[in-house]
Amino acid sequence: MITEHIQTAAYLFASILFILSLGGLSSQESAKRGVIYGIVGMIIAILATVLGGEVHGVTYIIIAIAIASVIGVIVARKVEMTAMPQLVAILHSFVGLAAVLVGFGSYIDPHSQALEGVEKNIHLVEVFAGVFIGAITFTGSIIAWGKLDGKIMSRPLLYPGRHTVNIALVIISIVLGVFFVKAPGTEGMIYLIIMTVIALYIGVMLVMAIGGADMPVVISMLNSYSGWAAAAAGFMLGNDLLIVTGALVGSSGAILSIIMCEAMNRSFWSVIFGGFGNTTSSGSGQVIEGEVTSITHEEAAELLKEANSVVIVPGYGMAVAKAQYPLYEMVDFLRKEGKEVRFAIHPVAGRLPGHMNVLLAEAKVPYDIVLEMDEINDELADTDVVMVIGANDVVNPGALDDETSPIYGMPVIRAWDAGTVIVMKRSMATGYSGAENPLFYKQNTEMLYGDAKDSVNKILTDLRK
Ligand code: NDP
Repeated sequence: MITEHIQTAAYLFASILFILSLGGLSSQESAKRGVIYGIVGMIIAILATVLGGEVHGVTYIIIAIAIASVIGVIVARKVEMTAMPQLVAILHSFVGLAAVLVGFGSYIDPHSQALEGVEKNIHLVEVFAGVFIGAITFTGSIIAWGKLDGKIMSRPLLYPGRHTVNIALVIISIVLGVFFVKAPGTEGMIYLIIMTVIALYIGVMLVMAIGGADMPVVISMLNSYSGWAAAAAGFMLGNDLLIVTGALVGSSGAILSIIMCEAMNRSFWSVIFGGFGNTTSSGSGQVIEGEVTSITHEEAAELLKEANSVVIVPGYGMAVAKAQYPLYEMVDFLRKEGKEVRFAIHPVAGRLPGHMNVLLAEAKVPYDIVLEMDEINDELADTDVVMVIGANDVVNPGALDDETSPIYGMPVIRAWDAGTVIVMKRSMATGYSGAENPLFYKQNTEMLYGDAKDSVNKILTDLRK
């Protein structure tokens, strides 16, 4: 067992490591270092907590950690990169559930029951707020998991008067909170239970109201909620490190949500309040006129041979096909032929913030040819060929001019500005938002049907001939 002083010092050290970890994660070059800081910080945090004087039943805790670690390693090894968002969502739900359980446990704990006066009131407010945030995070994350996994429809569930219902439920929860704080002993349990049920319902409805295209913001928002839930648990347990860590996750998640909202041209408040004032349509866009033309991989290879400048726009389909490896071989070949080849990354491409960057880094694509949408959009008019690989929503022109499109207002990569656009996907199916894509019908667009990895491999073989 360690003394309180050592524990405090360890907590301080772990907090510094967590801050360094977040700093490291802000750029691809330093991300690995950031992750290592985070792992070391978490090991110190767990040891300092478990070995602290106030913790009993250390053996049970160690057994639980051992079992959970094995499950964690198995799940992390098994999970496909394309299923990461679902995993993240379900992990957020655990944080929410933990905050709810800590709240109930802390309420009936004899030590907290022995508190008096202002101290008792503050503790009860912490419990009530912690359970409220935790319950919303719990069910909201489960719905997000369902939407990302395709188990729940990705279209927003909007019913008339839902904002009034939500506001009424929040007011009822506040009134229940007042009764809860005033109730003697554990008599406030009934108010706590009713509020928990209400908060569970709010969590479901908040995320159900958000459309498929806005899911990136929901993921980062739930990340933020899970941080605040952890911070609330820290207050209930009187654990400073949990408060600091929770606040770090909560605020960084909120900042990420704001960045994602800006990238998607959505109002932050509208997403926070579950589509409040949402102008997003739940349809699939206007009927598109025009003809779709397709090419073979030999023809695609010819177009690339003739081009001087090529821009590749990857999307979720590249992740599904695991096409990044042959793709980089192809890019390398073209660059050696003296062509300018770059990648254009949309902030919400794929199913996770930074999804495409991770995949390209995995395939060892140099960072300097990977550009953000805003950096490259104006240069596309001077580009000979844009290759869209498994991307759909992020190159949909309907987002700019079709008010009926579910992604209307979202900035997109203007692939159609280029001389020729090659769209590689398996069919004419829509992307995650369900919006039809007028890009496929443009005169300078050629569809190349098939699995992205197969197509890239075939093009590569043709290029090498
Ligand atoms: P989309 O989901 O819009 O489109 C992906 C396309 O890939 C599909 O149309 C599909 O067409 C094609 N595809 C699937 N498998 C393959 C394959 N094996 N080979 C070739 N093509 C394939 O992806 P985008 O990246 O363009 O856009 C991301 C969408 O996901 C946005 O709507 C975004 O809001 C949403 N989202 C993003 C999150 C994030 O944080 N980045 C989180 C949650 C949602 P086909 O079936 O015809 O092959």
